[in-house]
Amino acid sequence: MDQVECVVIGAGVVGLAVARALALQGREVIIVERNGAIGEETSSRHSEVIHAGIYYPEGSLKARFCVEGKQKLYNYLQSHGVAHQRLGKLIVATSEDQIAALEQIRTRAAANGVDDMLFLSGNEVTALEPELRCVTALISPSTGILDSHGYMLALQGDAEEHGAMIAFDTVFQGGAVEDDGIVLEFGGSAPMTLKAQMVINSAGLSAQPVAASLQGFPAEKVPAHHYCKGNYYALAGARAPFQRLIYPAPEAAGLGVHLTLDLGGQARFGPDVEWIDGIDYDVDPGRADSFYAAVRKYWPGLPDDSLIPAYAGIRPKIQAPGEAAVDFMVQGPADHGVAGLVNLFGIESPGVTSSLAIADHVAEHLG
Ligand SMILES: Cc1cc2nc3c(=O)[nH]c(=O)nc-3n(C[C@H](O)[C@H](O)[C@H](O)COP(=O)(O)OP(=O)(O)OC[C@H]3O[C@@H](n4cnc5c(N)ncnc54)[C@H](O)[C@@H]3O)c2cc1C
Repeated sequence: MDQVECVVIGAGVVGLAVARALALQGREVIIVERNGAIGEETSSRHSEVIHAGIYYPEGSLKARFCVEGKQKLYNYLQSHGVAHQRLGKLIVATSEDQIAALEQIRTRAAANGVDDMLFLSGNEVTALEPELRCVTALISPSTGILDSHGYMLALQGDAEEHGAMIAFDTVFQGGAVEDDGIVLEFGGSAPMTLKAQMVINSAGLSAQPVAASLQGFPAEKVPAHHYCKGNYYALAGARAPFQRLIYPAPEAAGLGVHLTLDLGGQARFGPDVEWIDGIDYDVDPGRADSFYAAVRKYWPGLPDDSLIPAYAGIRPKIQAPGEAAVDFMVQGPADHGVAGLVNLFGIESPGVTSSLAIADHVAEHLG
């Protein structure tokens, strides 16, 4: 049986970042990916926003990794020539009763070390974004957008330059924990068996089934998993009259139907919140009415018939609908007792922003 030092299961943005960090330490790394290319699942079905780190509870991994990851990400994108823009975002209160929620966001952001957020009056907002309707808004200057595929290509390039290899069309099917390593069975185009000293389970929506299929891994340590779809609609024809990202006050399980811009200035709206039982990326055109209603609360000028179904992504949730939000779950040997195994569960938003911080944490503390 072939032996390898580290296997990373999953070539999404987090798996690639972890593989890069391990390769940079001089370790031997193989990344296995069931699809034929990098980042074909959640890592290419999101908002492409570099989050500031303002919503997450103080002391949570989401807060820590997002704030630390944001800075690392901006530096990385800059040094690797990956397109990005620090354009800022406005979180709007469209009625007086939402102001308290914005105040809480600012307090929480400050506790997380994000101390550049400012309240703007209605007039100040109008001066910046004349088409935006709100009572007041919080501005987050450190929020930005990125070319997430360009970012993943750069991570892949770095990892490969330092000796990492990627096996595409290779499906992890099961394995067993042994005294001197973890045996992994792969199917797909080139079936193989490997024994690894370190395994990073970065399988995104499949992280729980991957952990559950490792014989010798304590079943009670596999958390629940639920799928929460976020649908996006694009603005057809016209360009949106906004220079910044626009977010309503957040709602349960998501950040509210917000307006993001891509690097070409094209607007999209979403993601909304739709709990589903299985993987399904279709966008139901029937959801348009709720998008018009949500967006017109802050942009009354949204023209009729201008929204078209675009794409959807699925949040890998640990909590069920109606339950309190759960933090990223980064499980190392001290948590589950299996030497060399790291499980990354529930890596939903802000996973892209956090990716370099998660990777450094795994490489420096759990390897
Ligand atoms: C709607 C939505 C909006 C979001 N917006 C943002 C945002 O604006 N900013 C931000 O920072 N974050 C955002 N996120 C979060 C971000 O997209 C994710 O945290 C991130 O993409 C997760 O990356 P990953 O590598 O963990 O998972 P994935 O991208 O899902 O990668 C996992 C990989 O594992 C592979 N795999 C799975 N099982 C196997 C197996 N058995 N064998 C081999 N390979 C396997 C899959 O094929 C996949 O390529 C958003 C998420 C969603 C759903």
